[in-house]
Amino acid sequence: MVFLDKEIPCLYNCNDWWIMIKLNVAEIKKRLVGKTDFHFQVDAKELNLSEEDLAVRGPIFVDGEISNAGDVLLLKAAIHTKVERECARCLKTFVSDVETKILEKFFPVDAENIDDDAFSYEFDVVDITEAVREGLLVAEPLQVLCKEECRGLCPVCGVDRNVESCDCDTDTVDPRLAALKQLFKK
Ligand SMILES: [Zn+2]
Ligand SMILES: [Zn+2]
Repeated sequence: MVFLDKEIPCLYNCNDWWIMIKLNVAEIKKRLVGKTDFHFQVDAKELNLSEEDLAVRGPIFVDGEISNAGDVLLLKAAIHTKVERECARCLKTFVSDVETKILEKFFPVDAENIDDDAFSYEFDVVDITEAVREGLLVAEPLQVLCKEECRGLCPVCGVDRNVESCDCDTDTVDPRLAALKQLFKK
């Protein structure tokens, strides 16, 4: 992990097997509307993202601020990175820029009536690792295309129709479906 801004009050415990992005909020908790900016550069491993979770290609930049909103601490951050994706039509892989924003509340761990899945913090340390990880995963679309007009693969011979053309008859119905059609005709 690289702190891009050495002046910010951050904690980083390299002895943890689980590396976390931690913010020390002791100062901002003292003042209502107190806030602090932070800038991190982390890698996929530091966010506990496996290749199956997300094919990150390059550093992950996290820039944001955490502020005291009374009962809760409010985290606002922008996340930038590059991710390798596979086109749903032609199966070609390509690298895309990813930019997403997160807005999360962090409750004191002893707060009452908080949801089970709410983020919490203890003492003066806020661990934003999971919030950043989730933010990146949620931002990932279910299906992507290499380009809007991607022509995909020929279902018969498998050529990439963006590069090659073929003479396959793709209008012919599956023989099993054809048999079914015949049945209905009777
Ligand atoms: Zn494609
Ligand atoms: Zn073909």
